[in-house]
Amino acid sequence: MSYAVAVRALCEFTARAGDLDLRFTPAPSGVEGMAGHTVVTGRRGPAYETEMSLSGQHEGLLVRGRADGYDPVANQLEEIKTYRGQLDSVRENHRVVHWAQARVYGHLLCQARGLERVRVALVYFNVVTEEETVLVETHEAAALQTFFQEQCDRFLAWAKTELAHRQTRDAALEKLAFPHGEFRAGQRDLAVAVYRTARDGRCLMAQAPTGIGKTLGTIFPLLKASPGTGLDKIFFLAAKGSGRGLAVQALDTINAQPAAPALRVLDLQARDKTCEHPDLACHGDSCPLAQGFYDRLPAARAAALAHTRLDAPAVRATAREHRVCPYYLSQELIRWSDVVVGDYNYYYDSSAMLYAMTQAYQWKVAVLVDEAHNLVDRARRMYTGELDQASLSAARYAAPKALKKPLDGLQRSWNALNKKQAERYQAYDAVAPGVLAAVQKAVGAIMEYMAESPLPQDDPVLTFYFQALQFMRLAEQFGSHALFDVTLSDVGVASAKTRPSTLCVRNVIPASYLAARYAAAHATVLFSGTLSPQQFYRDTLGLPNETPWIDVAAPFQAEQLAVRVVGNVSTRYRDRERSLAPIVDLIATQYAERPGNYLGFLSSFDYLRQVSDLMRARHPDVPIWLQTPGMDEAGRAAFLARFTEAGQGVGFAVLGGAFSEGVDLPGKRLIGAFIATLGLPQVNAVNENMKRAMDLRYGEENGYDYTYLYPGMQKVVQAAGRVIRTESDVGTVHLIDDRYRRAKVRGLLPSWWRVD
Ligand code: SF4
Repeated sequence: MSYAVAVRALCEFTARAGDLDLRFTPAPSGVEGMAGHTVVTGRRGPAYETEMSLSGQHEGLLVRGRADGYDPVANQLEEIKTYRGQLDSVRENHRVVHWAQARVYGHLLCQARGLERVRVALVYFNVVTEEETVLVETHEAAALQTFFQEQCDRFLAWAKTELAHRQTRDAALEKLAFPHGEFRAGQRDLAVAVYRTARDGRCLMAQAPTGIGKTLGTIFPLLKASPGTGLDKIFFLAAKGSGRGLAVQALDTINAQPAAPALRVLDLQARDKTCEHPDLACHGDSCPLAQGFYDRLPAARAAALAHTRLDAPAVRATAREHRVCPYYLSQELIRWSDVVVGDYNYYYDSSAMLYAMTQAYQWKVAVLVDEAHNLVDRARRMYTGELDQASLSAARYAAPKALKKPLDGLQRSWNALNKKQAERYQAYDAVAPGVLAAVQKAVGAIMEYMAESPLPQDDPVLTFYFQALQFMRLAEQFGSHALFDVTLSDVGVASAKTRPSTLCVRNVIPASYLAARYAAAHATVLFSGTLSPQQFYRDTLGLPNETPWIDVAAPFQAEQLAVRVVGNVSTRYRDRERSLAPIVDLIATQYAERPGNYLGFLSSFDYLRQVSDLMRARHPDVPIWLQTPGMDEAGRAAFLARFTEAGQGVGFAVLGGAFSEGVDLPGKRLIGAFIATLGLPQVNAVNENMKRAMDLRYGEENGYDYTYLYPGMQKVVQAAGRVIRTESDVGTVHLIDDRYRRAKVRGLLPSWWRVD
């Protein structure tokens, strides 16, 4: 069996040296890069060949890739690289890798065509001036072969270890038995569906309740399917740290089995959590851990991979020992890990690292999306871009002379837009063309300026540039999936003439962005305790229509949960005052009947305060504790610490907040919940415009449900789901609002509930 490696990956491995340098230099975008290649190849003669697939072997190593171009008349192989600004901005350690790639392709071409010699050219193309700088070397085939073999030899020892790891891993996975012997009720159905999804290479939506062991029930079958389907990696993505922790634990359990597969499990952490020098910049002149990073990387990489659990402490310890940056070491370890556990944004964000690597190295990956209902809102935020006029003013103030003109031009167009707007908030059918053109001009000018004279990391012009770039890219893709809105500031308003604003390209339906990510993965499984109605999630998450949806039966009995609808109370805003006394009396009655721990969910902190104030006044004997706005980690831990087996009282929280999902309080730690809201998002101008966008896309009969009802009820079901966590739990849920009597609302409650 040979070990396959892409030319790029081989050369990055063997030729990278020196400092890590993440100083910002404006590089061409992917689209500009592709356009640049087309311009260069379009200038060549009719015989010119492009995108040639080439491969070669050396002692069990298969090296393959696509060469950019070959001119048979000049006998010249070309590797094309695009850049901006001055050629000097292409760093030396990048150039070394570029030459290595060109020479390896040179060898592969000589071998494929039986050439005795070839001209090997590096073509640097400036995407702005469209100038080419062509650097040429002429090599005999034998010299290129020697170079190729040297690169392979430097990689071979590593490749052999990797191949052995993969063979041992796959052999162990084939024999791997389910860690807990028996599957739990429902867990087998989930596992079978996930296995088939991986085998067939498609997507799956799985609604699976708490208590069946979803994490192991999805990871295990993917691992079992890996050897047969040739999966390179599994990405387990979660919205919260708790989901990531459960995945790491499940993988620990698998690695602890007899004849375990020794899976390398990387728990990917954000840069701000792992950086050892937050006050420094990521380059060798500033940070000691970036200086000589690539020189020390081979030893650090080898030492890290002696571990299977590559969590934050393990990566940090190795990084310290080898004096390399822990964050960039963990990025390197992605390449060599079997399972990567991380936040959604590492794969779904517009500049997501795991997605980019999957594309660049052509990995075959399977993606697990934990608690996937969260992906709708998270993806909306990933594809929303705001531009704040205060940020433009700061940039104008700090800008060098060369940038004043384009920034002033943008300021004028922006002010003209503000002046026309009568309301504080207004949405428009399209991004104001004058403003967009001015943003494009400003972005272009800053980019050109920075290509010549880089700006420091905290420069206001750079801060504005990043905001403007994201805004511009989203504005250029504007369509019915988004809103363009303008919010005038009411701070420091002297007159309507000078009133600044915030522009926003606000994503409503992230479907099209996410669909491209599913297409890049071999298989994707989206699972959650609440993934209904399936059409809502299919539409908003952009899943192919043929995507199967399974609903795994809950392991609980209806008798375990008493669900009571309190239909004589309205929690609508206008009825709040009247609702307070019935709510607190109901809570006190239930508490007197069955003392223990309860959660009370309200729709806002204001409502929570009113209910808790009255509770203290009318029922001072019932202990209560409250969630507070912006509660920190310690406060949240203290709130949850009150829920002990012997504890008694009511913790009040806001629905959709920190305590309405991802909280596990089994047994007597929680015996009931009061939900005094339908969880509907506030009716305001933004949500009403989102509703209109939903109306247009999915029909007027669905706009309200897609914007308000389904997201609201999803929160209700999640919050109520805190009560029954195990097959021996018993509890009560009170749904407080007259609208819970409606059949449509009842239809959105879990099928195993029996509602009184
Ligand atoms: S330690 Fe921090 S500053 Fe240094 S390279 Fe790493 S992330 Fe950058």
